[in-house]
Amino acid sequence: MSKNPGLTVLAGPTAVGKGTVSTYIRDNYPEVWLSVSATTRAARPGEQDGVHYFFKTAEEFDDLVAAGELLEWAVVHGCNRYGTLRSTVNAAIAEGKSVLLEIDLQGARQVKEAVPDANFVFLAPPSWDEMVRRLVGRGTETPEEQQRRLETAKLELAAEPEFDHTVINDDVRRAADELVSLMGLTPHGR
Ligand code: 5GP
Repeated sequence: MSKNPGLTVLAGPTAVGKGTVSTYIRDNYPEVWLSVSATTRAARPGEQDGVHYFFKTAEEFDDLVAAGELLEWAVVHGCNRYGTLRSTVNAAIAEGKSVLLEIDLQGARQVKEAVPDANFVFLAPPSWDEMVRRLVGRGTETPEEQQRRLETAKLELAAEPEFDHTVINDDVRRAADELVSLMGLTPHGR
């Protein structure tokens, strides 16, 4: 593998299931060091500080940015800020761990600037029709909102050539196993 297998970035369109794949990896692959991001979003029920995210106030997040402590950060879905803590990621890489960042596309582009030899993996939907189903399927959005989301999805899908590999999220376990093998580890899906 020509790319640095020590640092892998997983990104892809909204609603493609990145969170589900990374949760599967957290639960089944302790040998993967999954980065815990800082965020200004409020914790959802069941989410633990330091496990799923480091939950920060806007002021605390400002301080992290000002101190240069974020490897990348972005405003996601137009409201909350999310960022990767540089020092913990660097320490894990230095210890030889297999580090995985599950971040949005804007963040992936920033990591590419900072660490061009990292391994960039794009998580793609099985098909455009499936993507439409996932985005509009719930029927809770207005037709205008659905249209806006589909336009965004089209732009996001166009980013695929910026990545080293594409993994299709047709099945969570299969996609996670493929990702793990792209990280140079042995898949052992159950
Ligand atoms: P959620 O709020 O559903 O947990 O995550 C929303 C989005 O934030 C997901 O698309 C996820 O990839 C992205 N995200 C999570 N952590 C980070 C991060 O550290 N940096 C960036 N740029 N995006 C992140």
